[in-house]
Amino acid sequence: MPTPQSPITVLYGVSEQRAKLFEKLDIYTVDDLVRHYPRGYENRGEIKKVCELTPGFTSSCILEISSPLKSTRISSKAGRKMTVQKVTAHDETGSVLLTFFNQEFLKNTLVTGRKFRFYGQVTGTFLSPQMTSPAYEPYIEGKELDSLVPIYPLTSGISCKMISRLVKSALDCYFGVESLPKDIIEKYGLMSLYDALYTIHFPSDGEKMKAARKRLAFEELLNFQLRLRSLKDRNRKGKAIKLYRPDMQPFFDSLSFGLTDAQKNSIENILYDMTRSETVQQASDTVLYTQPMRRLVQGDVGSGKTIVAASAVYACVRNGLQASLMVPTEILAEQHYASLLPLMEEHRIATALLTGSTKAAHKRNILEALKEGKIDFIIGTHALIEDNVIFKNPGLAITDEQHRFGVKQREKLSGKTAVSEDGEETVPHMLVMSATPIPRTLALILYGDLDISIIDELPPGRQKVDTFAVGESMRQRIYKFTEKLVSEGRQCYIVCPLAENTDGILTDEEYENGLKSAAEYCEKLKTEIFPKLKIEFVHGKMKPAAKDKIMKSFSAGEIDILVSTTVIEVGVNVPNAALMVIENAERFGLSQLHQLRGRVGRGKHKSYCVLMSPVIKGQLADGNNPSEKRFKIMCENESGFKISQYDLEMRGPGDFFGRRQHGELSFKIADLAADMTLVEETKKLADEITKSKNKA
Ligand code: ADP
Ligand code: MG
Repeated sequence: MPTPQSPITVLYGVSEQRAKLFEKLDIYTVDDLVRHYPRGYENRGEIKKVCELTPGFTSSCILEISSPLKSTRISSKAGRKMTVQKVTAHDETGSVLLTFFNQEFLKNTLVTGRKFRFYGQVTGTFLSPQMTSPAYEPYIEGKELDSLVPIYPLTSGISCKMISRLVKSALDCYFGVESLPKDIIEKYGLMSLYDALYTIHFPSDGEKMKAARKRLAFEELLNFQLRLRSLKDRNRKGKAIKLYRPDMQPFFDSLSFGLTDAQKNSIENILYDMTRSETVQQASDTVLYTQPMRRLVQGDVGSGKTIVAASAVYACVRNGLQASLMVPTEILAEQHYASLLPLMEEHRIATALLTGSTKAAHKRNILEALKEGKIDFIIGTHALIEDNVIFKNPGLAITDEQHRFGVKQREKLSGKTAVSEDGEETVPHMLVMSATPIPRTLALILYGDLDISIIDELPPGRQKVDTFAVGESMRQRIYKFTEKLVSEGRQCYIVCPLAENTDGILTDEEYENGLKSAAEYCEKLKTEIFPKLKIEFVHGKMKPAAKDKIMKSFSAGEIDILVSTTVIEVGVNVPNAALMVIENAERFGLSQLHQLRGRVGRGKHKSYCVLMSPVIKGQLADGNNPSEKRFKIMCENESGFKISQYDLEMRGPGDFFGRRQHGELSFKIADLAADMTLVEETKKLADEITKSKNKA
């Protein structure tokens, strides 16, 4: 008796040779085949009479073969021999000419007097309709045909019919098999496994099909969530030092602004996590341990995540422990260092910076001091996860702009353990700061193992960044406008598309060309368009030191216009910058555009974002063009959460995260943009299951 795990060759009609073809569809076992879900359905159930057939539309009709099929030989254009089969068929209202190619065997099937249901695109005219290579199924009075017929992803040599036939026999292996516990099935009102699999392939109607889909998506998401947890359980298992709650007021008092409610709330969440009394096994009662915090802080660009992180650092250091903050670029590390240092010094928190370009001798000193516990707080890049970075008392590991780091890297930083005085090994609490807001569904999926705090509020007084999308005809006016702002003392960014190659999507040559044209454009701006202004160009391939020098002088207000590739996308903070011009904006995704726009409007000055694109002819059209749709969304929305939801809907989760993460997020049936409720339900359920398992 074959089982779902048997190779598909156990199925009748699957030779080794055919199995090779199935491999191209990633189908090796019976289960793979059954889980090769239809990508859609043809609605063949709506039967038309011949007199109702309309050329250009795809329709179903039940016809009787009128006369024997005729086959003729022809030569194709390429000189290959072909045969054409023609046959007429009719109902009581008229007849249809049917044409097939290279299917001589049909003369034994489409026999005069037999009835079939034909489905296909109608060609010819109203008076003499035709169909070419329609799908056909024998029609027997009293025996109903499925109205929804599945369409499968195919490869050459494998047809939908073949898959349907094989699936039907494969389903026998699932009779009486159930993969979810009974109480879950009842609680969530799910179909049984067998019914769901049968129905997804052979639905009798749309409602049943949806119910089947729900059951299968539920199971897929639940398994994903459980897998995610067990994968990360290893890291969660450790214990962290339970902090006492320090008086935070001196720290808050030293800020030049009051915190927003959303910031306060996130800080509360963090303090709760690090100070909670969650019993974990402990050897003595002099030190108390707790579950390590694993929290994600999500907030829009400019919502003030840094200070939330700094508050956590303060609490940790007041407990005599060390904290670390890892960011993806040197520029960002230096910026954080520069802005946090005065604040930390005020509270006598010894702070250091460690990046790839820290000089060897200085680095040695830092590592030494860190090991001896003389440094309380260290800010840095990937350099922080190297093996020679050893903390004396690691209490807190923060990663900022998380989507740039893989899960592995953030786990590595928080995996830096320490052995406390009583011989217990502890892990630091972990805090993750997101760079871009992402839709809740995706956050639940991607960070299924983390608790989430959301900063859904910008600091008061922030002005909306006015956003315009314009075509080439407006270029001169945009240049005039740029000049005007600069004359008022403001600074501008001009971003040229994608000379970056972080995703490995471009070939080296494409990259070089992109870089060259961006550099040429910058030359033109310098010499022809704004000869009087101070303009510099930064790009991803520059030496960090050179890039830094320019960024610093832009920060100091010595440069009027910074032309850049997307290097500036992450994090930089120059409050005097009031204009962001994005060239070839059609090449950027929504989240990226939002991220770029977030570079302006950070100070007290009214700020603007201009999306330049040759796609726009004259005025921004209301059309269906995806670029123009994106522009419209940008012009009409400020919230990063909203924009990322649109982004997800427009692109799907694969593209949303770029190629690297695609694999992790490819679902067979669940749809992350649409199955919000299922994602939430399964996350909750996975939490419950994991909890009760850990108790047992
Ligand atoms: P992001 O969330 O993008 O990392 P930052 O932490 O860089 O944002 O904060 C952006 C700017 O807002 C910084 O200059 C910061 O000092 C300022 N800021 C943060 N919180 C507040 C607040 N509550 N009121 C006023 N300004 C704030
Ligand atoms: Mg930030």
